[in-house]
Amino acid sequence: MKYISTRGLSPAKTFTEILLGGLAPDGGLYLPEEYPQVTRAELDAWRDLSYADLAFEVLSRFATDIPAADLKAILDKTYTAEVYSNGRADSDASQITPLRTLVPGVHILELSNGPTLAFKDMAMQLLGNLFEYALDKQQAELNILGATSGDTGSAAEYAMRGKRGISVFMLSPNGKMSAFQRAQMYSLPDENIHNIAINGMFDDAQDMVKAVSNDHAFKAQYKIGTVNSINWGRVSAQIVYYFKGYFAATSSNDEQVAFSVPSGNFGNICAGHIAQMMGLPIGQLILATNENDVLDEFFRTGLYRPRGTDHTYQTSSPSMDISKASNFERFVYDLVGRDGAKVREFWSRVDAGGEFDIKGEECWHDLAKFKFSSGKSSHFDRLKTIREIWEEYGVMVDPHTADGLKVGLEQRRPSLPLICLETALPAKFEETIIEALNCHPERPAAMAGIENLPQRVVVMEADVQILKAYISANVPV
Ligand SMILES: *Cc1c(COP(=O)(O)O)cnc(C)c1O
Repeated sequence: MKYISTRGLSPAKTFTEILLGGLAPDGGLYLPEEYPQVTRAELDAWRDLSYADLAFEVLSRFATDIPAADLKAILDKTYTAEVYSNGRADSDASQITPLRTLVPGVHILELSNGPTLAFKDMAMQLLGNLFEYALDKQQAELNILGATSGDTGSAAEYAMRGKRGISVFMLSPNGKMSAFQRAQMYSLPDENIHNIAINGMFDDAQDMVKAVSNDHAFKAQYKIGTVNSINWGRVSAQIVYYFKGYFAATSSNDEQVAFSVPSGNFGNICAGHIAQMMGLPIGQLILATNENDVLDEFFRTGLYRPRGTDHTYQTSSPSMDISKASNFERFVYDLVGRDGAKVREFWSRVDAGGEFDIKGEECWHDLAKFKFSSGKSSHFDRLKTIREIWEEYGVMVDPHTADGLKVGLEQRRPSLPLICLETALPAKFEETIIEALNCHPERPAAMAGIENLPQRVVVMEADVQILKAYISANVPV
């Protein structure tokens, strides 16, 4: 299996060749040359597999340059009940992603029982083990540089902690994250984890990462890499739980289901789109946004109009506060019939701060066959949904999952079982839960009192030269 760029001008690469990189040289995103097709007989054979075995069946179609025995060992080590036992006390950790049924036909797929209580662990834990494997083979080192407003940074640090050949330099906005999120990252004792609190906003931190990445000489000398959401390894790992959720919610492969996905950078739902292209019987893919509704607008009207960071609202589902959906280009590539020239035309406008409108284009008529629906949720809707799900079913959901439930219940075709993806646990977003329910969310035992642990963090001005000096002084020699 080779990977090509959505902009059509980069040479094809293998899975491991793109694993440690980011964008393709032509500025596009990597996608498989063609999607592997899953036959009905394979679906039947996969229905009762364990998560790790299912992950092997799915990912061995994509990671064809990793020897099967090695891939199997990596997946067995990644998807264990031990790693995914941090969620609710009554969850079945052996399922890795247990399905919680609210009423017959309406389910929540638990994706947040990993070490940092958000779905990002599902892919990031695998990435950590794949990086370690690849670096070990090449006797190489990698220094991961990233910026986080919360969930990505902690998921990356927990996935890379203690890993041979890997260091993490994670920038976060000083004083802007919750006490819990700070404690999750800053309390890690591992020598290879470097927390840097920037005196500024998330965007300042992000700009510093971009500036370092654009200094190609520095990047090469210090072996800088990233783990942002465009990483193909992350997207491919997320495909697995769509299969797992489908099998758990149905009793035969003749049935169709609807998935509802709280969306920001379009990474999670992009994996659902690919599962559908592979032949998983998905009848509806429901995209939920918060007040930042760029993607909802596109699926309703055909207009893609990124707002710019100045017009991105800070909301109570902060992990969905995006101005540009970085993975969306992957879907558009499929939508325009895999025409790289068309994608280049659209993104020459987006990259210049503009927009594009597919109404009037040929692909507008093809949109329906991809089975997307969409909707948006507001702070008011979010609190109302958290309250209703709590009162009716005794289940506490986090603000992002609440957005998915609100839009999913509104947009679903009643004939289809609805599977809402749970993207985080309520313990991560205490403030909003208290506002909605006037009580504290349950906190997993492993995280009791983490705010009281000693913290390791360096405070830094938003200055690229200071950051570069810090990196060069702290990379392993
Ligand atoms: C990252 C994240 C999202 C958004 O996922 P995308 O893949 O960026 O669409 C939603 N909810 C939570 C809790 C997240 O951490």
